[in-house]
Amino acid sequence: MKQDIQFVRRDELKTKPDPNSLGFGKYYSDYMFSMDYNVENGWHDPKIVPYEPFMMEPAAMVFHYGQAIFEGLKAYKTGDGTIQLFRPEKNMKRLNDSCDRLCIPQIDEGFLLEAIKQLVIVEKDWIPQGEGTSLYIRPFIFSTEPYLGVRPSHQYKLLVILSPSGAYYGDQLSPVKIYVEEQYVRAVLGGVGHVKTAGNYAASMKAQEIAEENGYAQILWLDAKENKYVEEVGSMNIFFKINGELVTPQLNGSILPGVTRDSVIQLLQYWNVPVRETRVSIEEIFAAHERGELEEVFGAGTAAVISPVGELTWNGHSIVINDKQIGEVSQRLYDAITGIQLGSLEDPFGWTLKIDGVKAK
Ligand SMILES: *Cc1c(COP(=O)(O)O)cnc(C)c1O
Repeated sequence: MKQDIQFVRRDELKTKPDPNSLGFGKYYSDYMFSMDYNVENGWHDPKIVPYEPFMMEPAAMVFHYGQAIFEGLKAYKTGDGTIQLFRPEKNMKRLNDSCDRLCIPQIDEGFLLEAIKQLVIVEKDWIPQGEGTSLYIRPFIFSTEPYLGVRPSHQYKLLVILSPSGAYYGDQLSPVKIYVEEQYVRAVLGGVGHVKTAGNYAASMKAQEIAEENGYAQILWLDAKENKYVEEVGSMNIFFKINGELVTPQLNGSILPGVTRDSVIQLLQYWNVPVRETRVSIEEIFAAHERGELEEVFGAGTAAVISPVGELTWNGHSIVINDKQIGEVSQRLYDAITGIQLGSLEDPFGWTLKIDGVKAK
């Protein structure tokens, strides 16, 4: 490791929240990781410091031109108290892909992962233990230079904050109602839809808000050009089970390449369940339903893991999927992924990274 990580202790630790009412993203641990970038020193001053507000210039470029990217992964505490991360090197790689697209200087992936491990070890008592719970890890980078000209910033800050989380949706595997959006789009080819940048989420909120007002949990996005091909749902990738085969939109440059999506595909292949990445139109999905062949629909993402879809509305038509029950494959995938993450199932893929030699209380 080329730089030492400084540790700045806080005077008093916070009171930990009730593990039964964590929700998602509501509580933050005692410490965060911080690192700065400028042209003279590159990425420098790595430190673990108290989680607390900090000062910024009103002219900081992120407020005006939105160079802001993030990642999301989780730390788990297994039955015997071992702490593990799930495929974190994929998040480090994707962070750099996001940096590249937003003209943010690359980070040293190995060093950041090491810093995250150290932070999680410091905060091990914040990792909840129990069904559906984890410590959500949110690394993010934003531009800090005070300047109003439009060009990439010369200064950035990287922070990693931690949030103990329960199940993403209150009732984890209860199938949700989804609205297929035809008026608004999330991302265009050649744009930034394939990376985790803040603007994608800002752009999605109007449609999401309208959908919620109408009783839907999430939006299913279609391609921006033809308004025809399925892209993804909320902040999850989407899968359809049609006549025994799993189908998911192929990565086309406007879809976010999810770690959970990749894990689902690998698990299905391992189980010899047919799975295909392809361009799939919403019309085909509704036609499959018409033929009685649409067996399951589910979203896949770090926060919710697997989120079954019980109802889809498109162009004024609503269809009910699998009687609004959790599908067999959805349940099997959820059990397998969470089992590997929590260490209760064997990990044949080498996906979990144990944080060495540390046993939590
Ligand atoms: C993060 C995200 C996903 C899921 O990615 P995971 O790595 O599985 O968490 C899917 N779509 C969007 C838009 C996302 O932001």
